[in-house]
Parts: sequence; structure tokens; C-alpha cells
Amino acid sequence: MNSPALRSQMAPLIAVMHIIALLWIMPPIWAVEDVLMDSMTATAELGWMIYPSVGWEEVSGYDENMNTIRTYQVCNVFDANQNNWVRTKYIRRRGAQRIHVEIKFSVRDCSSIPNVPGSCKETFNLYYFESDSDTATKVYPPWMENPWIKVDTIAADESFSQVDLGGRVMKINTEVRSFGPVSRNGFYLAFQDYGACMSLIAVRVFFRKCPRIVRNGAVFPETLSGAESTSLVAARGTCIPNGEEVDVPIKLYCNGDGEWLVPIGRCMCKAGHEAAENGTVCKACSSGFFKPSQGDQPCQQCPINSRTTNEGATNCVCRVGYYRTDSDPAQMPCTTVPSAPQRVVSSVNETSLRLEWIPPRDNGGRHDLVYNIICKSCGSGRGACTRCGDNVQFVPRQLGLTEPRVHISELLAHTQYTFEIQAVNGVSDQSPYSPQFASVNITTNQAAPSMVSIMHQVSRTIDSITLSWSQPDQPNGVILDYELQYFEKNTAELNSSTLRSQTNTAVVRGLKPGTIYVFQVRARTVAGFGRFSGKMYFQTMTEEEYDSSLKEKLPLIIGSAAAGVVFLISVIVLVIVCNRRGSDRTESEFTDKLQHYTSGHLSPGMKIYIDPFTYEDPNEAVREFAKEIDMSCVKIEQVIGAGEFGEVCSGNLRLPGKREILVAIKTLKSGYTEKQRRDFLSEASIMGQFDHPNIIHLEGVVTKSCPVMIITEFMENGSLDSFLRQNDGQFTVIQLVGMLRGIAAGMKYLCDMNYVHRDLAARNILVNSNLVCKVSDFGLSRFLEEDTSDPTYTSALGGKIPIRWTAPEAIQYRKFTSSSDVWSYGIVMWEVMSYGERPYWDMSNQDVINAIEQDYRLPPPMDCPSTLHQLMLDCWQKDRNNRPKFSQIVNTLDKMIRNPNSLKATTPLSSGVHLPLLDRSTPDFSSFNSVDEWLDAIKMGQYKENFANEGFSSFDAVSQMTLDDILRVGVTLAGHQKKILNSVQMMRAQMNQIQSVEV
Ligand code: AMP
Repeated sequence: MNSPALRSQMAPLIAVMHIIALLWIMPPIWAVEDVLMDSMTATAELGWMIYPSVGWEEVSGYDENMNTIRTYQVCNVFDANQNNWVRTKYIRRRGAQRIHVEIKFSVRDCSSIPNVPGSCKETFNLYYFESDSDTATKVYPPWMENPWIKVDTIAADESFSQVDLGGRVMKINTEVRSFGPVSRNGFYLAFQDYGACMSLIAVRVFFRKCPRIVRNGAVFPETLSGAESTSLVAARGTCIPNGEEVDVPIKLYCNGDGEWLVPIGRCMCKAGHEAAENGTVCKACSSGFFKPSQGDQPCQQCPINSRTTNEGATNCVCRVGYYRTDSDPAQMPCTTVPSAPQRVVSSVNETSLRLEWIPPRDNGGRHDLVYNIICKSCGSGRGACTRCGDNVQFVPRQLGLTEPRVHISELLAHTQYTFEIQAVNGVSDQSPYSPQFASVNITTNQAAPSMVSIMHQVSRTIDSITLSWSQPDQPNGVILDYELQYFEKNTAELNSSTLRSQTNTAVVRGLKPGTIYVFQVRARTVAGFGRFSGKMYFQTMTEEEYDSSLKEKLPLIIGSAAAGVVFLISVIVLVIVCNRRGSDRTESEFTDKLQHYTSGHLSPGMKIYIDPFTYEDPNEAVREFAKEIDMSCVKIEQVIGAGEFGEVCSGNLRLPGKREILVAIKTLKSGYTEKQRRDFLSEASIMGQFDHPNIIHLEGVVTKSCPVMIITEFMENGSLDSFLRQNDGQFTVIQLVGMLRGIAAGMKYLCDMNYVHRDLAARNILVNSNLVCKVSDFGLSRFLEEDTSDPTYTSALGGKIPIRWTAPEAIQYRKFTSSSDVWSYGIVMWEVMSYGERPYWDMSNQDVINAIEQDYRLPPPMDCPSTLHQLMLDCWQKDRNNRPKFSQIVNTLDKMIRNPNSLKATTPLSSGVHLPLLDRSTPDFSSFNSVDEWLDAIKMGQYKENFANEGFSSFDAVSQMTLDDILRVGVTLAGHQKKILNSVQMMRAQMNQIQSVEV
């Protein structure tokens, strides 16, 4: 029972309430609370269920704003066994898992109540009861602990003992209790008083949630806290627009108090966007600004010489004419190419040269300026210039010079050169224009030939040694002859003998058997002798060696066709040798050095070529004749042609301990058959047996890795036919004869080796930067019947034949010999002298065969010296025995070189072609409709416009042209001038003929 006296004591408690700011406890900083019920907001009676009716009592009061608030009071302290319940209305859960109850109450201090019994309490109990719907009644749920669930017994922190009527602020307790998990649709709360004098001033029921938030560049949705105070609910963030996750998926945890905790990962603004508005948006970089990567950094202004093309730029593009290298940072200004080097000073010393210059005025804004030297050799200065070969030496180097000077050596004597000094920097290769350069023209002086570097023994007998050596790398002119100096190893050098040779081989006779001789050789040009080569030691055969070698030969000789006669002679020789053996016998002394220099085998006479297909296992031949090269030594640079079996590339070869050299690399395309591999490598086993300055040199093969390769010396000017076509009319006759001499020397060597080439043609000759011609193409496969792809090779019984180059007996009955190679050589001469014209022009193969059969032969090409055409005709003798040998051809050409006057006489135009095969090189003008057509036919079509501009558009006008007119129309190349002049003269002669016929 509520005593009226006590109630009156409580009244002031309610009355002062209006001066108390009834502020709820502030939630955690990030938390959001959703209120499920608040007694303070009730405008009418709360109407909670009370049990028993004499317990709790609803009483009105006022808050600080004088709003009415509803409270419950109880104060039955003088009655024992109190059990007073008050139950809230049904409270909907609204998804919450954990419920918080904030209670404001005040409790009377028992000790302050006079005569209070011991049953007076200062605490009360809080309960809850879950239910899916509002089903509570006066009697349900029963007013007892079970089925209610007790949350806590709540005690006052501060009870009050007396009311201060003076309006002193009273202490009101505020307690928050939480419970969960709750899972039904709603619940009731109940407050149980068991003997306290107290007032329940306000009750607020709420749950907490973490609010929608933008944190670390990501948006996190509103998230309800977990069921327990300690539970953390993970929320996955979504990057804000134009933000990107860094590393891990971005997460935040919502704790039981509705606070976001433990951020994991983060989003950053992507490239082209920067954080704005406190990191809650990623804004596109504005025009003229860029941001190269994801991150926190702001957009930067475009560097100098660059600009943006749109907003949100991740980089700034360079303005036209400005560039960046891959390694230039995006913040660096765009740069440009350097201007040309300035004021080049050259000083020539014989065949060397020093160049110095002043750096360019403008380095393009960069600090990686270097210089490249381009060397062009212009021969005697009349023709076009060609790139220098790799024999020219540059110190410190040719490309990438950092200092403005270079020393250049190993140039050809008496030759004009143009050097271009290019200024290049890191962005030069991006410019569409060639680097700017300063150029200088120089002419080298006369110089003696350089040293012969290699000499080998070709063969030896008891009293002779046959030697051959390479041409000097720098002949510096036409080599007139070589001087070989030799002496017995154990005698003084003063007693040396000398021997002259016009070729690079010599047979030294009259030597003592089994004796070591010291040899040195030097070349001579009009500039005099070059330096002697290093000393090399070779030994003649001892008599024992000679005897045993003869014995080895004997069975072979017996087996030969002329066995009887030869046998007889051999026996006689043997007898003589045996007799000599007893008389003068010399001790031989082999040293390591000697072993090193001699060719090793004891066979007398010339080394003979061995057909790799005679080996049971052709791979054996490859192993024997070709050096295996490790792929790591080879660097492939670029494709330069298509071979039979795959691409042909240029590249570099660096063998251990050797200088890097340029090489050509023939590859075998993948998917080959074993037979193709064998055929491909057969070329290497043939080439590897040869060693001559006019035969393409095999460096080695790569067979142990893929692709399989054949590596040869690199020939800068490629194949002779196309080289001549590209340089039509631009060489002197002596230069052309020099090339022919080289080819003939190479063929003589092959012939001496008993090798028949079968496909000698300008297309199979390679030319290096010194115009040295070398015989190549030793592959056999193109002769095979199956291959039908190349029209040059026409099927014939037993294989394919290049008809236009092949001797009639080889076409008819496959008689391929060195003499049929001589026929082909004559055709090569014609190809060379006509600058790569197709032999027999557009005649069909059958017409060619018929014409040859009827003794027609190719006429002399334009300007071809008669002596050379005569040599061609000799090569084309029907009877192969009447054709010259290659050794004779070499001699004849050497004589012509030594006596250039012999090359002056050419076949007069008017005399008519003395062999009646029609000369198509100066065609009859009357078969053309216009001067343009005529110019095309004489392959001078490039001057059509020049002719028309200068008024030479009719045959009448053209036929009157003089050399001056030809110069005037702009024909500057001497070869072209000659060709046009000759054709004009021919036109004039043909016109005269027509007129005289008409008369
Ligand atoms: P081949 O298979 O020998 O006829 O070579 C095909 C093409 O590759 C030739 O016509 C040349 O243009 C080029 N070539 C072959 N060997 C070399 C080399 N040693 N140096 C330069 N070019 C070469």
C-alpha cells in the first residue's frame, strides 16, 4: 500500500523534475540509435499493466520544458513482502538483435525514512518477455520470474535521503541495461519492485546500428550491431565512384555499441582522379592536369611541352615534335631531338682520320646526347656512295659516342668518304625524321696494302710446299702481286729466297726433304709493298712419309681406268724414290708450333673435296667439316632474305676469346624432316671443306639447339645480280673485271678441289663491302626433281637445271664438269658486264637451247671491252675441251688488270653484232610508240619526266641529243649518261638506215 505520508514526501521529487535536464546518455560517437519505445514522448497516459493494483502508480510530472511526462512510482516500504510489477506495452523488435534499455529513476534512501522496517529496499528488477504478437493480458504472462527473463537487479548509484526544497538539483539515476539475442517479433519489459520507495521517471528502449558511412574511400551500408555486446558484424565496403580497392577487400566491423571499428583495406582514387570533399569523392583531374596512378596524391599540372586531351587525364601527351622515352617519368617535360653537331674538323693521315666537332646548339632538353658516325664510301667519287663495311675501325666506337671526337682507321686508300656525324638522344628514334647530322667529305691518301693474315699449306711433297694465303683485309688498291720470302729454319734470315706470285698461291720448289722452312708473304700495289705477314713454319715431307703416302695411293691407281700405264709409271717413280731414300735423308724435327701450322695430313698434292653424301652417316660429315657453335654466341639481328629451307638473317657471332663479327645465319624452318635437315646441313659440310678468299667462309653450324643454323661470314652487299642492278652503270670496267677475277679465282680453287658447282650464276655470288665477290650456294637440293617452285631451275631428266647458265652437254646428257662450270662463268661475265641483265632476256628456255645449238651466242653488253666478250665466247665453246681452264681465266683477267689499255676497245656500235643473237640491250626505237616507252625499254624510265620537261618528247628530238643535252635533262650518273648516249646513237643509226632505204 502506498502510504499518503510517504507519497507527500515523494511529491517534491516529481515537482523539481522540471529543472532537471532529462538528457539521455550520449551514444558512442559513430553510433546511431533507433528508439523502439520512449516513455518521455508519451502525450497521454502510458497505461502500462500494473500488478497488483496497490503497487505501482502512474503519476504525471513535467520536464524542463514544462512538458508533461509520465512516471511510475511505488513506495510501500512499510508493508512486508512486496512484489509489485509494472509491464510495458508490446514493443516491436524491428530487426534488432540486441536491445538496450535506459532507465531514469530515483530511489529513497531507506535509512532516511523514520521507523522503516528492515524489508525496505533500494533496488528493483528488470525483466523481459519475448512474444511474436501482443498477446499479454492481466494474467499472462504470469507475474513471476519464470517465464520472464531477468535482465538485472538495478541499484541506485545515488539515492536521496531528503528533498531540498530550496530547488537544489537532485540526483537522478540513469542506468542502461542490454539484453539479447532477441528473435521474436517483439517483447515486453517489466519492472519488479519488492519493497523500495522509488520513482521510474523515464524508460527508453532502443537498439544500435552503425550508420552508412564513407570511410577510407569506400561506402559502408547501415549495419545493425550484433546480438552480443562483444560481437563484431563485418560490413563489406564499396569503393566510391572512380575509387579502386588497394590490395585486400575493404571491410569495417560494426560492434555491439554501433561503432565502426577495425578498418581493413582501403580504396584510393584511380589514375586521372583525385580525392575531394574530405575523401568522399574522386574527382576527375581538370584539363591541363593529370594523375598517372592510383593513390592519394593530387592531380599535377602537365609538364612543359605536353597537354591533356580530356578531363581525368592519366598522362599528358607530348606536343607535336616532342617526345618521351619509356623510362622518362611522366612528370618530366617532353623533349625533342638535338640539332646537328657543329663545325666538324677532319684531319686525314694516309688511311686514317680524326674527326672533331662542337656539340649541337640544342640538345633537345635532354642529357643523353650521343653521336653516331655514318661512313659512306664513294669510291673514286663518281658513282653513288655505299655504306662502309665493318672493317673500318672507329675508336672509341662508331655508335653512341659520348665525346665529340672519333678516330677512324682501316679506310681504303685513294677513296672518297662522306662521314655523317649524327646527334642522337633518347627520343631520336621516335621522331619520324632522320637524326640531324653534320657531314664532312674527305679523300684518303695512298697507302700500301695491309698485312696478309693467314697462310696455309695446301700440299707438300718431298721437295716442294704449296702455300696459299688470304688477300690482305685492306688491299688499298689492285694487288699487282705477292712476294713470298722463305728460308730454312736453322739458317740465318739473311740467306732467304724470294718468290713472286700474281695469285695468292705459290708452289715453292727445290726444297730439302723433311726440312722446316720459315715463310712470310707481303702484297704489292702501285703504292708499294705492304708489311710482311708473321713468320709461319712448314715442313717438307720426309722420305718415309713420301714412301708411305705413295703406297697408300697405289691401290687407287691400280683401280683406275688407265691402270696399266699409270701403274708402270708409278713403279718407276717408286723405284726412283726408293733409290733417293737411301742417299740423302734429313732428320725432321716437329715442334708444337709446326704441328699447329701444317695442315696435318700426309697426303701429297691437292686436297680433294669429299661429297658429304658418300658418308654412311651425313651427320658425320657435318661433324668433320663444320664447327659446332653454341647458340649463346649467336645474336640474330634481322631477316635479310629467304633461303631454300628457311629465313636468312644477319647477326653477330662472338666466339670465346674472339672479336665479335657480323655473320649471315641461314635457318632451317621448324617442322623439317630428317632428310631436309640432312640436305640443309650438306651445304655446311661442303662449304666447310673450302678455305679461299673468294669462297664464302663457313663459321660453323648450330645443330644442338633449335633452329638448326648455318653461320657464314656476312656479305654486306648481298647477291651480285641484285647488287649490280641497283648500281647500274656505276662501276669502272676495272672494278667489274676485279669482281670477275675474284669469282674466277674462287672457281679455280673449287676446280682444283675437284668440286663442280653446277649452279654458277650471279645470283649465287655474294659481294662484301669491299666489292670482293665470293662464290656461294653449295646446296644440292634445288637440283632435286621434287622441287618445282623456282622457275630458274627447269626439270630435266635426272634433276633440275638452270638452263640459261648451263653448258649444252650438261643440259643434254648431264655431263657436269669444271668445263661446264666455265660455260656458266661466261654467262656470269655477261651478267656482270650488263649490270645484272637476264641472260637471253625474255627468250623461252627452249628458244635458248635451240639458239645455242645453232651456234648463236650472247652479244657483248653495252660498253663491254672486246677482250672480255672474247673471253665469254671462249667459255661458250661448244666443245668443252676448247674452253679455257679457270686458271687460264684468272691469268687472262690479271693481265687485263695490269694492262688496262687492253680493256679500252669496245665493239663498235655500227659494226653490227658479230654473232647473230639479237641484242636486246639497245632495242630498235621504231618498235616503240613514244619516247617514254623507249626510255622504259632501255631501263631509264626514271628520266621520263626530265625528258618531257626539257622538250625531248619526240624521237626526232631525242635522236639529236648530245652529251650536254643529257646532262641538261638531269642525268648525273656517268653510267646512265653512257647508256642514254649509246641508245641515242643507235637510234640515229637506225633512222639513217630507214632514210637510206626510203631513198
Ligand atoms: P641462299 O639461300 O644462299 O640463296 O640465300 C638467300 C639470300 O640471303 C641471298 O640471295 C642473299 O640475299 C642472302 N644471303 C645469303 N647468304 C648471305 C651472306 N653470307 N651475307 C649476306 N647475305 C646473304
